[in-house]
Amino acid sequence: MTERLPDFLQQALKKQYGEEITAQIAAGMSTERKTSLRVNTLKTTREAVAASLTEAGIAYETAPFSEDAFLLTQAKEKDIWALPMYEKGEVYLQSFSSMLPPLALAPRQGADILDMAAAPGGKTTQIAALTGNRANITACEINNIRAEKMRYNLEKQGASRVNVMVRDASTLEDFFRFDQILLDAPCSGSGTILLDKPQTYKAFSEKLVLNSAKIQLKLLKKALTLLKPGNTMVYSTCSILAAENEDIVLRALKGVNAEVVSAELPGMDQLPLLPCRIPGALCVRPNENYEGFFLCKIRKLK
Ligand code: SAM
Repeated sequence: MTERLPDFLQQALKKQYGEEITAQIAAGMSTERKTSLRVNTLKTTREAVAASLTEAGIAYETAPFSEDAFLLTQAKEKDIWALPMYEKGEVYLQSFSSMLPPLALAPRQGADILDMAAAPGGKTTQIAALTGNRANITACEINNIRAEKMRYNLEKQGASRVNVMVRDASTLEDFFRFDQILLDAPCSGSGTILLDKPQTYKAFSEKLVLNSAKIQLKLLKKALTLLKPGNTMVYSTCSILAAENEDIVLRALKGVNAEVVSAELPGMDQLPLLPCRIPGALCVRPNENYEGFFLCKIRKLK
């Protein structure tokens, strides 16, 4: 099974996790991933979404980490596109793993929150929903076209207190200060690879990992500058490679008055987890329900 992995990925995973776990990862990348959605509680309720799914004959399960996350056991994205609740922005198609960072961030009403690499806005709209539109969210995105897509999603989802900034977040002025920060960093996407879908890994390469790592370190250092002391942030990637995860966190924390805190999530014992060098950080193993994903919660000390 592991021989199906792109060469560099196979070598990197074996070095990091060993043969047995690499084989599990390869098996997880060889299955089709189920579609999942998040209830947009700004517009509807989980009961109403459940009723609409049942009416449409779409089977679902709820997630261990949130009652507002639904796993569709058979349906595909296109089945959801056809439903009125999708058109009305009452649900957001979002992978299970990608719902975890905003939950770990635990955004607070009234807080000034920076979503540093935000488009197309899946996590920004989730933060807006978690706070009932009562936090001041700044959503930063470097790419203009992706930022436009995010504006569309924010509008459709009814996320009304979001200020979109189209710029390189690593150059944000140091005088900005935020109560909470999410850095869902650009990455190689190693965790999202599906071996039966070559388009999911055609851009993957060692060079992409190295380039991503450079940007990630720059962005995380900036996030730690912009975070108010005594407050927490979340760093996440959809990669399962230490070069983009543990290595970045450990390098960014060097000489900085900050510490990793345990990312507590409901139903955590039911997540498929990979070994991780940083106690308290989470690395999710890809399988039929979850993309490979990393998240680490960090507190800046006073
Ligand atoms: N958080 C998003 C969501 O949940 O929908 C996904 C974010 S995606 C992993 C990373 C995003 O970061 C991409 O849209 C990319 O264009 C953007 N990006 C890359 N470099 C950036 C930078 N220096 N400053 C701001 N955004 C950046």
